[in-house]
Amino acid sequence: MPLPVVSPTATAGQPAAAGGEFPDARAPVDPATLRHRELLGGEFWRRIPAFRDVSEETFLDHKWQMKNTITRVERLLEALHGLVSEAFIQDAAEGFRLAPMAVRVSPYLLSLIDWNDPVADPIRRQFLPLASTRLPDHPELTLDSLNEQGDAPVPGLTHRYPDKALFLALDTCPVYCRFCTRSYAVGPDQETVEKVSLKATVDRWQRVFAYVRSRPELEDIVVSGGDAWNLRADQIRLIGETLLDIPHVRRMRFATKGPAVMPQKLLTDYEWFDAFVGIVERGRKLGKDVMLHTHFNHPREITEITRAALQRLHERGVMIRNQSVLQRGVNDDVETMLLLNRRLAWINVHPYYVYVHDLVRGTEELRTTLQTALDLEKHVRGAQAGFNTPTFVVDAPGGGGKRDAHSYEYYDRTTGISVFTAPSVKPGRFFFYFDPIDLLPPEGRARWADPAERPRMIAEAERAARESAGRR
Ligand SMILES: *Cc1c(COP(=O)(O)O)cnc(C)c1O
Ligand code: SF4
Repeated sequence: MPLPVVSPTATAGQPAAAGGEFPDARAPVDPATLRHRELLGGEFWRRIPAFRDVSEETFLDHKWQMKNTITRVERLLEALHGLVSEAFIQDAAEGFRLAPMAVRVSPYLLSLIDWNDPVADPIRRQFLPLASTRLPDHPELTLDSLNEQGDAPVPGLTHRYPDKALFLALDTCPVYCRFCTRSYAVGPDQETVEKVSLKATVDRWQRVFAYVRSRPELEDIVVSGGDAWNLRADQIRLIGETLLDIPHVRRMRFATKGPAVMPQKLLTDYEWFDAFVGIVERGRKLGKDVMLHTHFNHPREITEITRAALQRLHERGVMIRNQSVLQRGVNDDVETMLLLNRRLAWINVHPYYVYVHDLVRGTEELRTTLQTALDLEKHVRGAQAGFNTPTFVVDAPGGGGKRDAHSYEYYDRTTGISVFTAPSVKPGRFFFYFDPIDLLPPEGRARWADPAERPRMIAEAERAARESAGRR
Protein backbone atom coordinates (compact mmCIF):
# COMPACT_ATOMS: atom_id res chain seq x y z
CA MET A 1 0.00 0.00 0.00
CA PRO A 2 1.51 3.38 -0.97
CA LEU A 3 2.00 5.88 1.80
CA PRO A 4 -0.64 8.60 1.85
CA VAL A 5 0.51 11.80 0.22
CA VAL A 6 0.49 14.59 2.74
CA SER A 7 0.27 18.00 1.14
CA PRO A 8 1.96 20.92 2.89
CA THR A 9 -1.48 22.43 3.57
CA ALA A 10 -2.40 19.46 5.77
CA THR A 11 -0.57 20.89 8.74
CA ALA A 12 -1.80 23.36 11.34
CA GLY A 13 -5.53 23.56 11.92
CA GLN A 14 -6.47 20.91 9.36
CA PRO A 15 -8.49 17.86 10.30
CA ALA A 16 -6.44 14.69 9.94
CA ALA A 17 -8.07 13.76 6.62
CA ALA A 18 -5.08 12.04 5.03
CA GLY A 19 -3.97 9.06 7.07
CA GLY A 20 -5.97 8.40 10.21
CA GLU A 21 -9.48 7.18 9.56
CA PHE A 22 -9.20 7.05 5.74
CA PRO A 23 -5.65 6.04 4.94
CA ASP A 24 -6.28 5.95 1.17
CA ALA A 25 -8.16 9.23 1.05
CA ARG A 26 -7.16 11.88 -1.46
CA ALA A 27 -5.03 14.79 -0.28
CA PRO A 28 -6.79 17.18 2.08
CA VAL A 29 -8.78 19.87 0.39
CA ASP A 30 -6.91 22.99 -0.64
CA PRO A 31 -8.59 25.70 1.49
CA ALA A 32 -8.53 27.98 -1.58
CA THR A 33 -11.23 25.85 -3.20
CA LEU A 34 -13.57 26.65 -0.30
CA ARG A 35 -13.27 30.43 -0.64
CA HIS A 36 -16.67 30.60 -2.30
CA ARG A 37 -18.25 30.12 1.12
CA GLU A 38 -16.77 33.33 2.49
CA LEU A 39 -19.36 35.97 1.71
CA LEU A 40 -18.88 39.64 2.38
CA GLY A 41 -20.93 40.56 5.44
CA GLY A 42 -21.09 43.31 8.03
CA GLU A 43 -21.69 46.97 7.27
CA PHE A 44 -19.31 47.12 4.32
CA TRP A 45 -21.06 50.16 2.82
CA ARG A 46 -19.74 52.38 5.60
CA ARG A 47 -16.38 52.38 3.76
CA ILE A 48 -17.95 54.86 1.32
CA PRO A 49 -17.89 58.40 2.77
CA ALA A 50 -21.45 59.13 1.60
CA PHE A 51 -22.77 56.02 3.40
CA ARG A 52 -20.68 56.27 6.56
CA ASP A 53 -23.73 56.99 8.70
CA VAL A 54 -26.15 54.62 6.98
CA SER A 55 -27.55 51.98 9.32
CA GLU A 56 -28.19 48.39 8.35
CA GLU A 57 -31.93 48.94 8.47
CA THR A 58 -31.64 51.83 6.02
CA PHE A 59 -29.22 50.03 3.71
CA LEU A 60 -31.51 46.99 3.49
CA ASP A 61 -34.50 49.16 2.59
CA HIS A 62 -35.13 48.85 -1.15
CA LYS A 63 -36.83 52.26 -1.19
CA TRP A 64 -33.69 53.86 0.19
CA GLN A 65 -31.62 51.99 -2.40
CA MET A 66 -33.84 53.26 -5.22
CA LYS A 67 -34.03 56.81 -3.94
CA ASN A 68 -30.27 56.95 -3.62
CA THR A 69 -29.51 55.31 -6.93
CA ILE A 70 -27.37 57.70 -8.92
CA THR A 71 -28.78 58.58 -12.33
CA ARG A 72 -26.74 61.64 -13.23
CA VAL A 73 -23.12 61.53 -14.20
CA GLU A 74 -22.41 64.76 -12.29
CA ARG A 75 -23.84 63.27 -9.10
CA LEU A 76 -21.87 60.09 -9.51
CA LEU A 77 -18.66 62.02 -10.02
CA GLU A 78 -19.49 64.15 -6.99
CA ALA A 79 -19.94 61.02 -4.87
CA LEU A 80 -16.47 59.87 -5.91
CA HIS A 81 -14.66 62.98 -4.64
CA GLY A 82 -12.42 62.01 -1.76
CA LEU A 83 -12.54 58.35 -2.82
CA VAL A 84 -10.51 58.43 -6.02
CA SER A 85 -8.05 60.72 -7.77
CA GLU A 86 -9.08 63.76 -9.83
CA ALA A 87 -7.53 62.10 -12.86
CA PHE A 88 -9.85 59.11 -12.46
CA ILE A 89 -12.88 61.39 -12.19
CA GLN A 90 -11.90 63.22 -15.39
CA ASP A 91 -11.38 59.90 -17.12
CA ALA A 92 -14.84 58.67 -16.07
CA ALA A 93 -16.50 61.97 -17.04
CA GLU A 94 -15.09 61.63 -20.56
CA GLY A 95 -15.95 57.92 -20.61
CA PHE A 96 -19.61 58.69 -19.87
CA ARG A 97 -19.70 61.41 -22.54
CA LEU A 98 -18.76 58.80 -25.16
CA ALA A 99 -20.97 55.99 -23.83
CA PRO A 100 -24.21 54.84 -25.47
CA MET A 101 -25.72 53.86 -22.07
CA ALA A 102 -27.19 56.09 -19.38
CA VAL A 103 -25.75 55.98 -15.89
CA ARG A 104 -27.67 54.24 -13.10
CA VAL A 105 -25.73 52.88 -10.13
CA SER A 106 -27.26 51.69 -6.86
CA PRO A 107 -25.63 52.48 -3.49
CA TYR A 108 -25.18 48.73 -3.06
CA LEU A 109 -23.13 48.45 -6.26
CA LEU A 110 -21.12 51.53 -5.38
CA SER A 111 -20.23 49.90 -2.04
CA LEU A 112 -19.00 46.71 -3.72
CA ILE A 113 -16.39 48.50 -5.82
CA ASP A 114 -12.84 48.56 -4.46
CA TRP A 115 -12.14 52.29 -4.69
CA ASN A 116 -8.47 51.74 -3.81
CA ASP A 117 -8.01 50.29 -7.27
CA PRO A 118 -10.97 51.45 -9.35
CA VAL A 119 -9.30 51.03 -12.73
CA ALA A 120 -8.86 47.27 -12.28
CA ASP A 121 -12.03 46.69 -10.27
CA PRO A 122 -14.28 44.14 -12.01
CA ILE A 123 -17.50 45.80 -10.87
CA ARG A 124 -16.36 49.30 -11.84
CA ARG A 125 -15.49 47.92 -15.28
CA GLN A 126 -19.06 46.79 -15.84
CA PHE A 127 -20.80 50.02 -14.88
CA LEU A 128 -18.44 53.00 -15.17
CA PRO A 129 -16.75 53.52 -18.53
CA LEU A 130 -13.33 55.17 -18.69
CA ALA A 131 -12.21 57.11 -21.75
CA SER A 132 -8.58 56.04 -21.31
CA THR A 133 -9.21 52.31 -21.74
CA ARG A 134 -11.67 52.67 -24.59
CA LEU A 135 -10.94 50.75 -27.79
CA PRO A 136 -12.45 51.42 -31.22
CA ASP A 137 -15.57 49.37 -31.98
CA HIS A 138 -15.20 46.36 -34.24
CA PRO A 139 -15.93 47.34 -37.87
CA GLU A 140 -18.57 44.57 -38.11
CA LEU A 141 -20.58 45.91 -35.17
CA THR A 142 -24.19 47.09 -35.61
CA LEU A 143 -26.45 48.63 -32.91
CA ASP A 144 -28.92 45.71 -32.62
CA SER A 145 -26.27 43.10 -33.28
CA LEU A 146 -28.53 40.16 -32.38
CA ASN A 147 -31.20 41.41 -34.81
CA GLU A 148 -33.86 41.13 -32.09
CA GLN A 149 -36.01 43.67 -33.90
CA GLY A 150 -35.73 41.77 -37.19
CA ASP A 151 -37.29 38.70 -35.51
CA ALA A 152 -40.03 40.71 -33.77
CA PRO A 153 -43.56 40.16 -35.20
CA VAL A 154 -44.89 42.80 -32.75
CA PRO A 155 -42.86 45.47 -30.95
CA GLY A 156 -41.08 43.97 -27.96
CA LEU A 157 -41.60 40.28 -28.75
CA THR A 158 -38.79 38.37 -30.44
CA HIS A 159 -39.93 35.02 -31.81
CA ARG A 160 -36.76 33.43 -33.10
CA TYR A 161 -36.83 29.87 -31.82
CA PRO A 162 -39.61 27.40 -32.57
CA ASP A 163 -41.15 27.03 -29.10
CA LYS A 164 -39.97 30.03 -27.11
CA ALA A 165 -40.13 33.79 -27.33
CA LEU A 166 -38.56 36.78 -25.64
CA PHE A 167 -40.94 39.44 -24.32
CA LEU A 168 -39.36 42.81 -23.65
CA ALA A 169 -41.93 44.13 -21.20
CA LEU A 170 -40.23 47.43 -20.38
CA ASP A 171 -37.12 49.41 -21.18
CA THR A 172 -35.81 50.36 -17.75
CA CYS A 173 -33.57 48.55 -15.26
CA PRO A 174 -32.53 49.04 -11.64
CA VAL A 175 -29.03 49.82 -12.95
CA TYR A 176 -27.60 50.28 -16.42
CA CYS A 177 -24.77 48.03 -17.58
CA ARG A 178 -22.32 49.46 -20.04
CA PHE A 179 -22.28 46.26 -22.00
CA CYS A 180 -26.03 45.85 -22.43
CA THR A 181 -26.90 43.98 -25.62
CA ARG A 182 -30.14 45.89 -25.68
CA SER A 183 -28.60 49.34 -25.55
CA TYR A 184 -30.62 49.86 -28.77
CA ALA A 185 -33.72 50.13 -26.56
CA VAL A 186 -32.83 50.05 -22.85
CA GLY A 187 -32.47 53.33 -20.96
CA PRO A 188 -33.04 56.92 -22.01
CA ASP A 189 -31.67 58.35 -25.29
CA GLN A 190 -28.02 59.34 -25.18
CA GLU A 191 -26.01 61.99 -26.97
CA THR A 192 -24.61 59.19 -29.16
CA VAL A 193 -27.75 57.01 -29.65
CA GLU A 194 -31.46 57.48 -30.20
CA LYS A 195 -33.33 54.42 -28.97
CA VAL A 196 -36.23 52.23 -29.93
CA SER A 197 -39.12 52.75 -27.50
CA LEU A 198 -40.30 49.73 -25.50
CA LYS A 199 -42.30 51.33 -22.73
CA ALA A 200 -44.29 49.35 -20.19
CA THR A 201 -47.74 50.04 -21.64
CA VAL A 202 -50.71 47.71 -21.42
CA ASP A 203 -51.62 48.47 -25.06
CA ARG A 204 -48.30 47.21 -26.33
CA TRP A 205 -48.49 44.20 -24.01
CA GLN A 206 -51.97 43.31 -25.30
CA ARG A 207 -50.57 42.98 -28.82
CA VAL A 208 -47.81 40.74 -27.46
CA PHE A 209 -50.32 38.56 -25.58
CA ALA A 210 -52.54 38.33 -28.68
CA TYR A 211 -49.57 37.18 -30.73
CA VAL A 212 -48.59 34.55 -28.14
CA ARG A 213 -52.21 33.32 -28.08
CA SER A 214 -52.16 33.02 -31.87
CA ARG A 215 -49.06 30.79 -31.90
CA PRO A 216 -49.78 27.37 -30.41
CA GLU A 217 -46.13 26.36 -30.70
CA LEU A 218 -45.05 28.91 -28.06
CA GLU A 219 -44.57 27.01 -24.80
CA ASP A 220 -41.83 29.07 -23.19
CA ILE A 221 -41.86 32.83 -22.60
CA VAL A 222 -38.94 34.87 -21.28
CA VAL A 223 -40.18 38.06 -19.62
CA SER A 224 -37.29 40.48 -19.82
CA GLY A 225 -36.62 44.08 -20.77
CA GLY A 226 -35.21 46.11 -19.40
CA ASP A 227 -35.64 44.31 -16.17
CA ALA A 228 -38.55 42.67 -14.34
CA TRP A 229 -37.27 44.23 -11.07
CA ASN A 230 -38.71 47.51 -12.34
CA LEU A 231 -42.20 46.12 -12.97
CA ARG A 232 -44.71 47.06 -10.30
CA ALA A 233 -46.42 44.29 -8.34
CA ASP A 234 -49.66 44.78 -10.30
CA GLN A 235 -47.72 44.59 -13.59
CA ILE A 236 -46.03 41.35 -12.52
CA ARG A 237 -49.47 39.94 -11.75
CA LEU A 238 -51.02 41.15 -15.01
CA ILE A 239 -48.22 39.73 -17.17
CA GLY A 240 -47.87 36.54 -15.15
CA GLU A 241 -51.59 35.76 -14.97
CA THR A 242 -52.28 36.60 -18.60
CA LEU A 243 -49.49 34.36 -19.83
CA LEU A 244 -50.33 31.52 -17.42
CA ASP A 245 -53.92 31.64 -18.70
CA ILE A 246 -52.78 30.82 -22.22
CA PRO A 247 -53.09 27.01 -22.32
CA HIS A 248 -50.06 26.31 -24.51
CA VAL A 249 -47.71 28.48 -22.43
CA ARG A 250 -46.03 25.95 -20.12
CA ARG A 251 -42.88 27.70 -18.94
CA MET A 252 -42.02 31.25 -18.02
CA ARG A 253 -39.01 33.01 -16.68
CA PHE A 254 -38.68 36.48 -15.33
CA ALA A 255 -35.26 37.86 -16.18
CA THR A 256 -33.67 40.33 -13.84
CA LYS A 257 -30.33 41.63 -12.79
CA GLY A 258 -31.94 42.69 -9.52
CA PRO A 259 -30.42 40.05 -7.21
CA ALA A 260 -26.94 41.16 -8.32
CA VAL A 261 -27.44 44.89 -8.00
CA MET A 262 -30.30 45.48 -5.55
CA PRO A 263 -31.04 42.28 -3.60
CA GLN A 264 -32.68 44.41 -0.89
CA LYS A 265 -35.92 44.33 -2.89
CA LEU A 266 -36.44 40.68 -1.99
CA LEU A 267 -36.03 41.50 1.69
CA THR A 268 -38.21 44.59 1.99
CA ASP A 269 -40.51 44.99 -1.04
CA TYR A 270 -43.20 42.66 0.28
CA GLU A 271 -45.71 43.62 -2.40
CA TRP A 272 -43.39 42.75 -5.27
CA PHE A 273 -42.19 39.59 -3.56
CA ASP A 274 -45.74 38.38 -2.92
CA ALA A 275 -46.82 39.17 -6.47
CA PHE A 276 -43.91 37.27 -7.95
CA VAL A 277 -44.14 34.26 -5.63
CA GLY A 278 -47.91 34.28 -6.20
CA ILE A 279 -47.33 33.81 -9.94
CA VAL A 280 -44.83 31.01 -9.32
CA GLU A 281 -47.32 29.23 -7.06
CA ARG A 282 -50.24 29.75 -9.42
CA GLY A 283 -48.10 28.33 -12.20
CA ARG A 284 -47.23 25.31 -10.11
CA LYS A 285 -50.90 24.59 -9.44
CA LEU A 286 -51.52 24.75 -13.19
CA GLY A 287 -48.63 22.35 -13.80
CA LYS A 288 -46.44 25.13 -15.22
CA ASP A 289 -42.93 26.27 -14.42
CA VAL A 290 -42.17 29.87 -13.46
CA MET A 291 -38.57 30.70 -12.62
CA LEU A 292 -36.22 33.57 -12.03
CA HIS A 293 -33.24 34.10 -14.30
CA THR A 294 -30.59 36.42 -13.04
CA HIS A 295 -27.25 37.82 -14.03
CA PHE A 296 -24.17 37.69 -11.77
CA ASN A 297 -20.82 38.20 -13.47
CA HIS A 298 -18.32 38.30 -10.62
CA PRO A 299 -18.07 36.39 -7.33
CA ARG A 300 -17.82 39.65 -5.37
CA GLU A 301 -21.34 40.54 -6.48
CA ILE A 302 -22.55 37.84 -4.10
CA THR A 303 -22.68 38.98 -0.46
CA GLU A 304 -24.40 37.96 2.75
CA ILE A 305 -27.24 40.26 1.66
CA THR A 306 -27.58 38.32 -1.59
CA ARG A 307 -27.63 35.02 0.23
CA ALA A 308 -30.31 36.16 2.66
CA ALA A 309 -32.39 37.67 -0.17
CA LEU A 310 -32.28 34.62 -2.42
CA GLN A 311 -32.94 32.31 0.52
CA ARG A 312 -36.36 33.95 0.78
CA LEU A 313 -37.13 32.77 -2.75
CA HIS A 314 -35.57 29.38 -2.14
CA GLU A 315 -37.76 28.85 0.93
CA ARG A 316 -40.80 29.42 -1.27
CA GLY A 317 -39.54 26.88 -3.81
CA VAL A 318 -38.51 29.35 -6.52
CA MET A 319 -35.82 28.02 -8.83
CA ILE A 320 -33.14 30.50 -9.86
CA ARG A 321 -30.74 30.29 -12.76
CA ASN A 322 -27.86 32.55 -13.69
CA GLN A 323 -26.67 33.88 -17.02
CA SER A 324 -23.23 35.51 -16.97
CA VAL A 325 -21.46 37.49 -19.61
CA LEU A 326 -17.81 36.63 -20.17
CA GLN A 327 -15.83 39.84 -19.84
CA ARG A 328 -12.20 40.71 -20.12
CA GLY A 329 -10.77 41.81 -16.78
CA VAL A 330 -13.96 40.74 -15.00
CA ASN A 331 -14.32 36.97 -15.15
CA ASP A 332 -12.05 35.79 -17.97
CA ASP A 333 -9.63 33.82 -15.77
CA VAL A 334 -10.12 30.28 -14.47
CA GLU A 335 -9.96 31.18 -10.80
CA THR A 336 -12.65 33.87 -10.97
CA MET A 337 -14.96 31.81 -13.17
CA LEU A 338 -14.70 28.81 -10.85
CA LEU A 339 -15.25 30.96 -7.79
CA LEU A 340 -18.31 32.56 -9.39
CA ASN A 341 -19.92 29.24 -10.27
CA ARG A 342 -19.15 27.67 -6.91
CA ARG A 343 -20.53 30.66 -5.07
CA LEU A 344 -23.70 30.61 -7.19
CA ALA A 345 -24.20 26.93 -6.41
CA TRP A 346 -23.57 27.63 -2.70
CA ILE A 347 -26.55 30.00 -2.63
CA ASN A 348 -28.73 27.65 -4.72
CA VAL A 349 -28.48 29.49 -8.01
CA HIS A 350 -27.79 27.25 -11.00
CA PRO A 351 -25.13 28.58 -13.38
CA TYR A 352 -26.96 28.21 -16.70
CA TYR A 353 -25.12 30.14 -19.41
CA VAL A 354 -21.90 32.04 -19.85
CA TYR A 355 -22.35 34.27 -22.88
CA VAL A 356 -19.47 35.22 -25.07
CA HIS A 357 -19.79 39.02 -25.02
CA ASP A 358 -21.98 40.39 -27.80
CA LEU A 359 -20.71 43.07 -30.14
CA VAL A 360 -21.94 46.16 -28.28
CA ARG A 361 -20.95 49.76 -28.89
CA GLY A 362 -18.28 51.26 -26.67
CA THR A 363 -17.37 47.99 -24.92
CA GLU A 364 -14.61 46.52 -27.04
CA GLU A 365 -12.23 46.46 -24.07
CA LEU A 366 -14.69 44.14 -22.27
CA ARG A 367 -14.91 41.57 -25.04
CA THR A 368 -12.51 38.69 -25.33
CA THR A 369 -11.84 35.90 -27.80
CA LEU A 370 -13.91 32.79 -28.45
CA GLN A 371 -10.76 30.85 -27.59
CA THR A 372 -10.90 32.24 -24.04
CA ALA A 373 -14.42 30.81 -23.65
CA LEU A 374 -13.29 27.42 -24.96
CA ASP A 375 -10.34 27.33 -22.54
CA LEU A 376 -12.43 28.37 -19.54
CA GLU A 377 -15.11 25.81 -20.30
CA LYS A 378 -12.57 23.02 -20.07
CA HIS A 379 -11.72 24.02 -16.51
CA VAL A 380 -15.30 24.65 -15.47
CA ARG A 381 -16.65 21.31 -16.68
CA GLY A 382 -15.85 18.67 -14.12
CA ALA A 383 -15.45 21.07 -11.20
CA GLN A 384 -19.09 20.90 -10.07
CA ALA A 385 -22.31 18.98 -10.60
CA GLY A 386 -23.43 18.93 -14.21
CA PHE A 387 -26.49 21.03 -13.38
CA ASN A 388 -24.16 23.62 -11.87
CA THR A 389 -21.99 23.72 -14.98
CA PRO A 390 -22.87 26.57 -17.33
CA THR A 391 -22.93 26.16 -21.08
CA PHE A 392 -20.67 28.64 -22.84
CA VAL A 393 -22.62 30.15 -25.71
CA VAL A 394 -22.22 32.64 -28.52
CA ASP A 395 -25.43 34.52 -29.33
CA ALA A 396 -24.78 34.53 -33.04
CA PRO A 397 -24.82 38.06 -34.49
CA GLY A 398 -27.54 38.45 -37.10
CA GLY A 399 -30.09 36.35 -35.21
CA GLY A 400 -28.76 32.79 -35.29
CA GLY A 401 -29.54 32.47 -31.62
CA LYS A 402 -27.42 30.91 -28.91
CA ARG A 403 -24.86 28.43 -30.11
CA ASP A 404 -22.59 26.23 -27.99
CA ALA A 405 -19.19 27.95 -28.18
CA HIS A 406 -17.58 24.66 -29.21
CA SER A 407 -19.96 24.09 -32.09
CA TYR A 408 -18.36 26.49 -34.59
CA GLU A 409 -18.05 25.24 -38.15
CA TYR A 410 -14.83 27.15 -38.54
CA TYR A 411 -12.64 29.37 -36.37
CA ASP A 412 -9.71 31.36 -37.70
CA ARG A 413 -7.67 32.51 -34.69
CA THR A 414 -5.67 34.92 -36.83
CA THR A 415 -8.59 36.95 -38.18
CA GLY A 416 -10.67 36.16 -35.08
CA ILE A 417 -13.62 35.12 -37.25
CA SER A 418 -15.73 32.16 -36.14
CA VAL A 419 -18.64 30.81 -38.16
CA PHE A 420 -21.73 29.09 -36.77
CA THR A 421 -24.78 27.43 -38.24
CA ALA A 422 -28.20 27.09 -36.59
CA PRO A 423 -30.21 24.43 -38.45
CA SER A 424 -33.24 24.60 -36.12
CA VAL A 425 -33.33 28.39 -36.10
CA LYS A 426 -32.29 29.67 -39.52
CA PRO A 427 -31.35 26.67 -41.69
CA GLY A 428 -28.85 27.18 -44.49
CA ARG A 429 -27.39 30.39 -43.08
CA PHE A 430 -23.96 31.15 -41.69
CA PHE A 431 -23.41 33.39 -38.67
CA PHE A 432 -20.18 35.15 -37.84
CA TYR A 433 -18.66 36.13 -34.55
CA PHE A 434 -15.63 38.41 -34.39
CA ASP A 435 -12.94 38.36 -31.72
CA PRO A 436 -11.77 41.83 -30.62
CA ILE A 437 -9.05 43.02 -32.97
CA ASP A 438 -6.61 44.14 -30.27
CA LEU A 439 -6.28 40.53 -29.06
CA LEU A 440 -5.42 39.11 -32.50
CA PRO A 441 -1.90 38.22 -33.62
CA PRO A 442 -0.16 41.01 -35.62
CA GLU A 443 -1.04 39.44 -38.95
CA GLY A 444 -4.75 39.49 -38.13
CA ARG A 445 -4.61 43.06 -36.86
CA ALA A 446 -2.91 44.15 -40.08
CA ARG A 447 -5.63 42.58 -42.22
CA TRP A 448 -8.43 44.30 -40.29
CA ALA A 449 -6.60 47.62 -40.65
CA ASP A 450 -7.13 47.42 -44.42
CA PRO A 451 -10.84 47.93 -45.28
CA ALA A 452 -10.42 46.10 -48.60
CA GLU A 453 -9.35 42.96 -46.70
CA ARG A 454 -12.48 42.79 -44.55
CA PRO A 455 -14.97 41.31 -47.05
CA ARG A 456 -12.22 38.96 -48.20
CA MET A 457 -11.62 37.59 -44.70
CA ILE A 458 -15.32 37.05 -44.18
CA ALA A 459 -15.70 35.31 -47.56
CA GLU A 460 -12.72 33.07 -46.79
CA ALA A 461 -14.23 32.09 -43.44
CA GLU A 462 -17.59 31.36 -45.01
CA ARG A 463 -16.00 29.21 -47.69
CA ALA A 464 -14.09 27.22 -45.08
CA ALA A 465 -17.24 26.81 -42.96
CA ARG A 466 -19.20 25.62 -46.00
CA GLU A 467 -16.53 23.02 -46.75
CA SER A 468 -16.42 21.85 -43.16
CA ALA A 469 -20.23 21.64 -42.90
CA GLY A 470 -20.40 19.92 -46.32
CA ARG A 471 -17.99 17.19 -45.31
CA ARG A 472 -20.43 15.81 -42.77
C1 LIG B 1 -32.14 33.63 -25.08
C2 LIG B 1 -33.38 33.74 -25.79
C3 LIG B 1 -34.43 32.87 -25.50
C4 LIG B 1 -34.31 31.78 -24.43
O1 LIG B 1 -33.35 30.85 -24.82
P1 LIG B 1 -32.86 29.67 -23.83
O2 LIG B 1 -31.75 29.03 -24.59
O3 LIG B 1 -34.02 28.77 -23.65
O4 LIG B 1 -32.43 30.29 -22.57
C5 LIG B 1 -35.59 33.00 -26.24
N1 LIG B 1 -35.69 33.93 -27.22
C6 LIG B 1 -34.68 34.77 -27.54
C7 LIG B 1 -34.84 35.72 -28.65
C8 LIG B 1 -33.49 34.70 -26.82
O5 LIG B 1 -32.50 35.55 -27.10
S1 SF4 C 1 -29.85 44.98 -16.35
FE1 SF4 C 1 -29.86 43.71 -18.24
S2 SF4 C 1 -31.20 44.81 -19.68
FE2 SF4 C 1 -30.64 46.25 -18.02
S3 SF4 C 1 -28.83 47.34 -18.73
FE3 SF4 C 1 -28.08 45.58 -17.59
S4 SF4 C 1 -27.79 43.94 -19.14
FE4 SF4 C 1 -29.13 45.54 -20.05
